[in-house]
Amino acid sequence: MPGLRLPDYHTHTERCGHARGRAEDYVAAARARGLSAVGIADHLPLAHDPDPDPTLAMPLAELDAYLAEVDALKAEHPGFVLIGVEADYLPASLEVTAELLGRLPLDYVIGSVHFLDGWGFDDPRYVEEYERRSMDEVYRQYLRLVGDAAETGLFDIIGHLDLVKKFGHRASADMTSEWEELAARLKRAGVTVELNTAGLRKPVGELYPAPDVLQILGRFGVPLTFGSDAHCPEAVGRDFDQAVAAARTAGYRTYVEIGPEGFSEHPLP
Ligand code: ZN
Ligand code: FE
Ligand code: FE
Ligand code: ZN
Repeated sequence: MPGLRLPDYHTHTERCGHARGRAEDYVAAARARGLSAVGIADHLPLAHDPDPDPTLAMPLAELDAYLAEVDALKAEHPGFVLIGVEADYLPASLEVTAELLGRLPLDYVIGSVHFLDGWGFDDPRYVEEYERRSMDEVYRQYLRLVGDAAETGLFDIIGHLDLVKKFGHRASADMTSEWEELAARLKRAGVTVELNTAGLRKPVGELYPAPDVLQILGRFGVPLTFGSDAHCPEAVGRDFDQAVAAARTAGYRTYVEIGPEGFSEHPLP
């Protein structure tokens, strides 16, 4: 079923240990959907960890094969395939991440916060930790970290901006001013935010970010792009019609495309 002519910059592959399908399968799926481009952005190896969990990110030993594989696809599909990674923002090992990213020939980097001082808060194995914490504090800590991530200058796109809601946990206090502060930081840092459709398939059942957050981002002029966060080829470009509708409702008229000359704004379809 052909979809909207938009790019999907957030897809994973079997190399990360928790996704299905090879990069070529994601490219084929993106073609079948009629997307304008597809970016492969698998989880960057957790290079700081001497014994990383093999179900979280691609092993360091596979990084060269990943680059070669996606490079071959780029050559085969000029202008259609891009190479990226999704990198964790881990403040304690920022230099390791920076060093690794600095020597990779990538078209873009998605920066994501998946850990709050070592707690993998989006991992179903560790959800019980939510019961032990104050959600207001979790939200404030998370939003601060996302702003810090943006200010490192290492990341072009910020992934799933309100991931902390994944399992449906909400702050009890009004977080509007915290979101506004974050939006201002994102704008100043010059990063793009993705409208990530994976949240629709998670317990929370919402886009990342939610409409009220998107509204704030729009007000602050934070640029927007699209990602499915597909962990199987069938999810490429999924629910992009809903994403475009949400972007329009929030006041957006343009989105960001990544081309040979870098990032540029285009009218929403
Ligand atoms: Zn993943
Ligand atoms: Fe992520
Ligand atoms: Fe992802
Ligand atoms: Zn993700």
